[in-house]
Amino acid sequence: MALHWKIVLGMAAGVAWALLATVLHMDGITQNWIAPFGDIFINLLKLIALPLVLFSIIKGIADLKDIRRLGRLGIRTLILYLLTTVMAVCIGLLLVNLLGPGKTMDQEMRIKNRIAYELWAHETEGVEVLDGLSFTADPAYAGYLAQGQAALESLKENDPVVGQRETVNDRSHASPLQFLLDMVPSNIFLALSSNGLMLQIIFFALFFGIVLLLISPGQAAPVLLLVDGLNAVFLKMVDVVMLGAPFFVFALMAATLGKMAGGNLAHLGEVLYSLTSYALVVVLGLALQVFGVYAMLVKWMAKGLTLKRFYKGMQKAQVLAFSTSSSAATLPVTMQCVEHELKVPPRIGSFVLPIGATVNMDGTSLYIAVAVVYLAQIHLIQLDLLQQLTIVLTATLASIGASAVPSAGLIMMIMVLQSVGLNPLWISIILPVDRILDMCRTVVNVTGDAAVAGVMASLDHELPQE
Ligand code: ASP
Repeated sequence: MALHWKIVLGMAAGVAWALLATVLHMDGITQNWIAPFGDIFINLLKLIALPLVLFSIIKGIADLKDIRRLGRLGIRTLILYLLTTVMAVCIGLLLVNLLGPGKTMDQEMRIKNRIAYELWAHETEGVEVLDGLSFTADPAYAGYLAQGQAALESLKENDPVVGQRETVNDRSHASPLQFLLDMVPSNIFLALSSNGLMLQIIFFALFFGIVLLLISPGQAAPVLLLVDGLNAVFLKMVDVVMLGAPFFVFALMAATLGKMAGGNLAHLGEVLYSLTSYALVVVLGLALQVFGVYAMLVKWMAKGLTLKRFYKGMQKAQVLAFSTSSSAATLPVTMQCVEHELKVPPRIGSFVLPIGATVNMDGTSLYIAVAVVYLAQIHLIQLDLLQQLTIVLTATLASIGASAVPSAGLIMMIMVLQSVGLNPLWISIILPVDRILDMCRTVVNVTGDAAVAGVMASLDHELPQE
């Protein structure tokens, strides 16, 4: 049996275990004895990801042998990444406006939400009610004032991310060039020792690789040989770790679902049901992105790569993205799939994919767009075209800025809500279904990087024709 099917089986077993453990009230066993293996798996993958990115980029550039080619590849890659992200946001906005998942909510509930929103806007400096309507001043809604106030209080009490919001606030006062500043490390060992600094490592690897091309071939040769060998070691580590993947994935699924259920199966059902329409719109959008946008991209721009080979070749990485919710942890396997199955040469894959894992998150941007408009809908707020365009812009930026780790998109949504003038505390409303959607959007993030890698190889005439 192929490995990815074994992983799927592991996943199914994890779901079954989570349900059983909840019914039999054995949640403690899951969290104490099974969940740690899931964390160990993610640790192992991340352990490999950083050095692998470092050495494979250096090797990739040295193999390109030509700095101009690198520049061309870099610019094309970034343009295509940006394009796919904007498309994803547009799909999200289109669907959420057309289908209106927020409108399925009970009208009384929405009025109460609306009042809470207006009260929040009045008490918050620099924020105005977006559509200029005033339910609080309307005598028809006077009966809802107390409920609205209570809803606002309860939002404040349940703030899920007090600490993180402060960091986001800090960032919004930074210089517009802050992202460039953040990219350049002052100490490579520091960058290597902190998980979120992938872009700094990419920067260093690019710099190192380019300078390696500038020194004399005699001096470069031993360094190249070493990098080549180290690269091979880390690639092999991926194979070794993946042997245990079916079991590890079982542990991840059992722990995640177990936590969501919180010892009560009915609770899990309720949570999922109340947000179903919203979650379904996100999933529909994600599916359109994967089977529409990427299919067109591969079909028209990656000559030599059939759709069947693309989707089939990516299965292993997709299953892993789903179970880890982290494109960074999945990166080593994504690279393996793209290079072995899609036949993209390593010098292209090892350049395009690590950058993609950090900056190209189509699933995340689509999810942010849908979530923001859904939240506006359940608060009876009409967003006009300009406000929706702001969402396109900020969701794109947020997805670029998001780290490739679980729930990063949720944190970035704070920034988007703030920039449109909505209450960032609302993220607690969609929190219950976030993990499941996180799993789905990570699959899209990873698939998008692979599609672009295929296109880049084809544009460079490096894709074997079938
Ligand atoms: N978990 C996602 C990823 O790693 C990021 C996010 O949307 O939260 O790709």
